[in-house]
Amino acid sequence: MYSKEMYELGAHSSVIREIFEYAKKRSAVVGKENIYDFSIGNPNIPAPDIVDETIKKLIDTMPSADLHGYTSAVGDNGTRQAIADYLNKTHGTSFRKENFYMTAGAAASLTITLHALAEEGDEVILIAPFFPEYKVFAEGAGMKVKIVLSDPDTLLPDYDAIEKAINEHTKAIIVNSPNNPSGVVLSEEEIKKLAALLEKKEKENGKPIYLIADEPYRELVYGGAKAPYITKYYRDTVVCYSFSKCLSLPGERIGYILVPDEAENSKEVFTAVCGAGRMLGFVCAPSMYQFVVRDCIGKTADLSIYEKNRDLLVSTVECLGFSCAKPDGAFYLFMKSPEPDAAAFCEMAKKYELLFVPSDSFGFPGYVRIAYCVSHDMIERSIPAFEKLAKEYF
Ligand code: PLP
Repeated sequence: MYSKEMYELGAHSSVIREIFEYAKKRSAVVGKENIYDFSIGNPNIPAPDIVDETIKKLIDTMPSADLHGYTSAVGDNGTRQAIADYLNKTHGTSFRKENFYMTAGAAASLTITLHALAEEGDEVILIAPFFPEYKVFAEGAGMKVKIVLSDPDTLLPDYDAIEKAINEHTKAIIVNSPNNPSGVVLSEEEIKKLAALLEKKEKENGKPIYLIADEPYRELVYGGAKAPYITKYYRDTVVCYSFSKCLSLPGERIGYILVPDEAENSKEVFTAVCGAGRMLGFVCAPSMYQFVVRDCIGKTADLSIYEKNRDLLVSTVECLGFSCAKPDGAFYLFMKSPEPDAAAFCEMAKKYELLFVPSDSFGFPGYVRIAYCVSHDMIERSIPAFEKLAKEYF
């Protein structure tokens, strides 16, 4: 009749979406200004002016059939060259346009990459807490998922646990820094540790273990933190990038996959990426936005607002007795639930119209994710609600 597996995915939307829907319904009852919705990672700051200016310029100067027509499946050459030039200038790398495959955002980059790599019996390692869709994407590509918990004190990867999880079936590990949901940014030291471990395991296994670097939050780092460019530390890295967050364009669906020349079987992996994109029916990434990112490369929305939000939220919750790892990047605060059941804590928070996401779906129970890609004003107005919530526990 129909696929039960797909039915299940469609019938049970993500917890995050459920809370987002609840927020809409509740707003209709008590008024939007009285709901403090910290549930969804939808950038609230506008795209920079240069995006709209570029769109106007493109409309005025490009023939419509070029602007809105198909590009080649790998993407527009000028766009791929502009991205390669930008990365080379910024990180001292030596990428060529041929290393890039344009996609409809990070979700497409990940599904295509996983399909391109997966062979029967392959496993992929996810480091919890992780973006819940990874499991859907990896299982959809036919891979078995192995979840490895981060160190509970630091929320950094637990390298011993990763080492134990790797076996002869391990094809890839997904690394997301800056991290959704913890906000943790992996330092150069951490990346070196991970790279050394993976290199050792590759030698033992006699085959590559690909590090899939999921990087939609690359530019969102605060307080001097740096997100090192992972291809410089580990050869077998495939980068899945998106412009959704840095340019505040999540609905426009634009990103890329980067397969560096140094990666084992680079040419074959790139060709498999093309094949996976074809099989999944992507055809080409949205044309107009390929030209937009070509002309706006290196520009970002005003990301300083997130840092301001982070500082206010962290100081508020810490003063009230809650604990959290101070996030160095992305726009999420991962706060320890004061009771073991994070879902029960979220229910309690709802009493004060505070909407958080319990961490169970991120594979790491006992925490809540607070998305601070909201207006600063909303955070200021929510402080009395945080105070009331704290009184329930401390
Ligand atoms: N990866 C992570 C860690 C994310 O948080 C998201 C979206 O929130 C994505 C991938 C998907 O991003 P995109 O909108 O570019 O598909």
